[in-house]
Amino acid sequence: MLTLERIKEYAKTDRIALVNRDESLSFAALDARSDAFAAWLLRRFGDDRTPVILYGEKEIDFLCCLFGALKSGRAYVPIDRTVPAERAAQIVADVEPKVMINFGGFAPETGAVILDAAALAEILRSPPEAEPQRSHWVSGEDAAYILFTSGSTGKPKGVSITAANLEAFCKGLLPSYPAGEGGVILHQISYSFDVSGCAVYAGLARGMTLFTIDHTMTENIGVLFAWLKASGLTMWASTPSLAELCARSGAFDERLLPELRQFLFCGEVLTHALCETLAERFPKARVLNAYGPTEATVLVTEAEITEAMRRDARPIPIGRPIQGTKLRLVDGDGREITGDETPGELQILGASVGPGYWRRPDLTERSFFIDAATGLRGYRTGDLCYRRGDLFYYCGRTDNQLKLSGYRVELEDIERNLAALPGIARAAVVPVWKDEKVQYLAAFLLLRGPDGLSHLKRTIRLKRQLAERLPAYMIPRKLFAVEAFPLNVNGKIDKKALAKRLEEAT
Ligand code: AMP
Repeated sequence: MLTLERIKEYAKTDRIALVNRDESLSFAALDARSDAFAAWLLRRFGDDRTPVILYGEKEIDFLCCLFGALKSGRAYVPIDRTVPAERAAQIVADVEPKVMINFGGFAPETGAVILDAAALAEILRSPPEAEPQRSHWVSGEDAAYILFTSGSTGKPKGVSITAANLEAFCKGLLPSYPAGEGGVILHQISYSFDVSGCAVYAGLARGMTLFTIDHTMTENIGVLFAWLKASGLTMWASTPSLAELCARSGAFDERLLPELRQFLFCGEVLTHALCETLAERFPKARVLNAYGPTEATVLVTEAEITEAMRRDARPIPIGRPIQGTKLRLVDGDGREITGDETPGELQILGASVGPGYWRRPDLTERSFFIDAATGLRGYRTGDLCYRRGDLFYYCGRTDNQLKLSGYRVELEDIERNLAALPGIARAAVVPVWKDEKVQYLAAFLLLRGPDGLSHLKRTIRLKRQLAERLPAYMIPRKLFAVEAFPLNVNGKIDKKALAKRLEEAT
């Protein structure tokens, strides 16, 4: 794998792979520690390649374990510490791991060997008798990682990505990275979201240093800016949400990040407003918008945003397909749309399309296919897009999946978890939009019977209960009890009517 090869190469230099607060990890240490972990896995578990769970956040050794798993031929499954224990336990039960690295704060019921940070440190810092051979490394169709994302059943679903997918992603993306080797790239996205791959895979393959921003740093803008000021960042890679948060302060400009030459955004709508702000405040930096689902390995389109695009009334384009990717738009009957400006569902074809969902052949069958004409693997995105010349434009979803503060959310996931709470018979969740983006979610609830609680007390109780089941970003900001749901002509809950009620109430 390209990144594994490059780490080995850079290990011969004095380059730094990762900075986290006052700690740093050289490429040489990353190589040695990942070798040590791979050797331990191979010795302990032999040919059993069951995926390895990595539970934590941005610990330096997290990165060593990630590459160690890959060097032992195993996929890793990252679980972020901010995921509630109940949901994390569902992922562990689904994966049935033989080994789990636990950086603290989680005690699942599992038969797996659990290594805490101290036990792990001992393994990572003991040089192996023999380096794992390249023949052990994940390659081709071997799974490299499984990322669990919001699932409409109310449980997270795992997206498998292979070593070949990652190769295709790096090959397609790297031509749009700043020329030359080195530099410092933002490392803020959690390992459990695929946009982190822009730093972890493409960044390290270019010899860049990952500069860590963890979730405690983003909780306070003053703290965040102090870290950014000290970062020496040359490249920013994130969802637009983080940059929007920063741009609310006038101090977010080139004086804060004088070396910054490129923004790479991916994962949600990039607004004109953010592009304008960045053009004004970072005149030396290019802004790139990229698009892609986890299922097709991080991103499949990109474009540098020009002044003409910023001034255009149509949305900021999601770009052109990267090398190795073919895009196709189809109408409701599955017929290809060839003309400009006609929206249709976007299908992705190419080497970065993954093999499907972990242990869910039914879901895989529904969304993935092999294209008869080209033999390429394909994925039905559920995204509505149109083409204009060689550029693609995003214009919404065909289903109930959406992005909230950069996070992928299935509304049914929240509805099912709400309906599983005591006293709730049924729930409907409605997004509230402003300026091209979802601002927040509101939930409407049919109670099983009177609960005797005030609106405020019920809201507080339900949010607390929901926080045990769902990550914070999935918890609706507003919750309303209703006597009955309005129904549409198909007898389904009329969400448009609920959205209207909400508008009238606020
Ligand atoms: P995820 O799997 O979390 O990366 O989310 C993938 C989904 O995010 C896509 O299917 C789109 O709906 C949305 N998305 C990703 N990138 C963009 C973008 N640049 N503009 C608009 N939506 C995007």
